[in-house]
Amino acid sequence: MTDRRNDKIIDGKGFAEALRGRIGENVAILKKDHGLIPGLAVVLVGEKPASQIYVRNKGKAAAAAGITATDYRLDTSASQAELVALVERLNEDPAVHGILVQLPVPDQIDPSAVINAIAPGKDVDGFHVINTGRLATGQMTGPDAAMIPCTPLGCLMLLQDRLGSLCGLNAVVLGRSNIVGKPMAALLTQMSCTVTVAHSRTEDLPGICRKADILVAAVGRPHMVQADWIKPGAVVVDVGINRIASPTPDNPDFMRLVGDVDFDAALKSAGAITPVPGGVGPMTIACLLANTVTAACRQNSIKPPAW
Ligand code: NDP
Repeated sequence: MTDRRNDKIIDGKGFAEALRGRIGENVAILKKDHGLIPGLAVVLVGEKPASQIYVRNKGKAAAAAGITATDYRLDTSASQAELVALVERLNEDPAVHGILVQLPVPDQIDPSAVINAIAPGKDVDGFHVINTGRLATGQMTGPDAAMIPCTPLGCLMLLQDRLGSLCGLNAVVLGRSNIVGKPMAALLTQMSCTVTVAHSRTEDLPGICRKADILVAAVGRPHMVQADWIKPGAVVVDVGINRIASPTPDNPDFMRLVGDVDFDAALKSAGAITPVPGGVGPMTIACLLANTVTAACRQNSIKPPAW
């Protein structure tokens, strides 16, 4: 007997593993046919433990796919001018195809000044205003196509894998940040969804969510989205990563990761849903690698793979 509960759970971890496999194959082809090894520069300022873990994981994943990942570390006291000078040097380096500055940066540095110093074609996070503009205006193909932010790109891949065409569907995006909510809404608009963006000032969130065929939650509020906010059969993508106390007899300080959606309850009404962990999270790193390969291809006038 098939387990209907499992059919509804979107396996982002498995999808990301398969995507990373395809990325590795494409990297091998680029090396063999063009002598091209995609290069990713990962820049970290300071010693924030969480940032160090993210940077290490990105480097490991890149290396596993055959991408050359190089770390650049600057001291916590580094100035904005120093960081911009490093970015400008990496912009000129032909072996570097993708540049990522790990956020947040220390207070003395304006993150937008640094992000906008990255050459748009090397901006593999897709946060540069030029890439934001390209996405907003639907510039999705050709050498000057938008680099798409990794998390929304990963969400889109999972949605297309589950639903095929998204054309004409009602999509609600909860959250309007520059890194998730806004680019997600732009991508869904590009896919011909009818998109509503909701945020902390929105009235009647449950009612708005109940109209959604696709519901993307990116608010950072544990279990905010309840089962009765979800239209029966809707596809729910939970971007939220929240740590909540979950004491056990052995470990009273135990914390666990949960999403923005009350997963167990939502599973009953949703047609499909991403879990946390194991849903969107693994897609973000895989899409960073995909963007690096895409960037390397565009910079060398090679048609990028269709992921
Ligand atoms: P931000 O804090 O930048 O944005 C949160 C958004 O949610 C804002 O637009 C805010 O509205 C809205 N919001 C907050 N509270 C409410 C509420 N009670 N009702 C309605 N809207 C609300 O977060 P991010 O976009 O950076 O991240 C969102 C979540 O996604 C976080 O949990 C983060 O950890 C996770 N994340 C996960 C990633 C992954 O790889 N899986 C990658 C990036 C983020 P307003 O604008 O009005 O303040």
